[in-house]
Amino acid sequence: MKYFPIFLDTQDLTCLVVGAGEVAARKIELLLKTSAKITVVAPWVCDTVKRYATEGRVHLIERIFESDDLNDKQMVFVATDDSQINKGIHDEARALKILVNVVDNTPLCQFITPSIVDRSPIIIAMSSGGVAPVLLRYMRQKLESLIPQKISLLGQFSEKFRELVKQKLKTVTERRYFWEDVLDGDIAENVMQGNNQIAEQKFLEKLNSDDASQTQGEVYLVGAGPGDPDLLTFRALRLMQKADVVVYDRLVSPEVLELVRRDAEKIYVGKAKSKHSVPQDEINELLAKQALAGNRVVRLKGGDPFIFGRGGEELETLIEHGVSFQVVPGITAANGAASYAGIPLTHRDHAKSVVFATGHLRDNSINLNWQGLAQPDQTIVFYMGLTGLPIICEQLVKHGMPANTPIAMVQSATTEQHKVVTGTFETIQEIAIKANIQPPALIIVGSVVSLHEKLNWFTP
Ligand code: SAH
Repeated sequence: MKYFPIFLDTQDLTCLVVGAGEVAARKIELLLKTSAKITVVAPWVCDTVKRYATEGRVHLIERIFESDDLNDKQMVFVATDDSQINKGIHDEARALKILVNVVDNTPLCQFITPSIVDRSPIIIAMSSGGVAPVLLRYMRQKLESLIPQKISLLGQFSEKFRELVKQKLKTVTERRYFWEDVLDGDIAENVMQGNNQIAEQKFLEKLNSDDASQTQGEVYLVGAGPGDPDLLTFRALRLMQKADVVVYDRLVSPEVLELVRRDAEKIYVGKAKSKHSVPQDEINELLAKQALAGNRVVRLKGGDPFIFGRGGEELETLIEHGVSFQVVPGITAANGAASYAGIPLTHRDHAKSVVFATGHLRDNSINLNWQGLAQPDQTIVFYMGLTGLPIICEQLVKHGMPANTPIAMVQSATTEQHKVVTGTFETIQEIAIKANIQPPALIIVGSVVSLHEKLNWFTP
């Protein structure tokens, strides 16, 4: 982050604008929305700025800039049409440690003014650091259309009752839950419709009711998808933004974790290098304990929680403890890998069914119904099959599948490390070693794999 975003209290801010043409006028117009004390110095003044001066909104000095103009100023905008003069004023200001912005000259800006979506008291400020102004304008348009103007009313409503809520509800968590309820429901609707009287009445009823401060923990079992954060569901994202505590494991990508509420406590229960992961029963108990303490717990799992995710076991423990929960499906690795590798899992000419199986080795053997798997017209997807690859190939051939059956390995599907290799039962092991395929990786078996060559579209 080259630029650090902050919001300045402009109550006592003294600001100098050098130049009073149209460019300067635009900055002044922006500053006039604040309480900053604005001085403008320029020998020539455009009509707009003249008007601001006659209205007494800026202090205008009609002459060429002098060094003394910087006295007692905290911030200066330089917008004369002489780049030499601009540079000179910039250097003086920097020497005096005054924040300086030479308009439309990013290298000479110690700070830059962001693109603003104004729903005061809610203000969204955005910047591309001057490198992608069109993209920024595009994003701003999106936000302008996405965020109702009436959010302002909601902001003002929150401001009005903030103190009262603080007096009534003692802990931060209680207050957050209370406000989240208010903002999620019909009170907020009423505020935005302008029905203030109804809104206030309902609000006070809720605040004074017994359950205003009741904090009941809950667990959200959330599928985080195979890695690409774009593949999260809206619901997953919404709950992640609400979480007090997030319990996650190794398969949850850092990009996805970024989207969790910033203040949430993040607990890692996956395998660290050379260490074992937290045993499943401890995870089950941890979830229950956190929820019983009144927290909203997001249990974030790679892919889908109900596909090789042990989500069911976690829920059983929660039920034993009387903790309520929700389950949010995620895109499982097989779907992510197949889509991004251009391998349809079923196809009229290739496969009429698809099976998800585990290739996890226990005592060097995989106890699977090989006969059931080795069917014609069927695609098999093996999770956790990297180390078991030789056994998988051997067993499927032994149970009647042709040795030249196409097989693919997809590493870290949908992420930057996404890699696909294909071969046959006979060749794949060597190919995988050569390509240095690393976990997490998925194995896809069946003639659909032959479509990869034609349908492959994703390059990380
Ligand atoms: N619940 C998860 C699966 C957990 S089991 C899901 O629905 O996807 C862990 C196995 O999933 C890994 O060993 C690997 O085989 C597979 N896997 C998970 N993420 C993957 C990814 N991005 N690319 C390839 N395989 C992945």
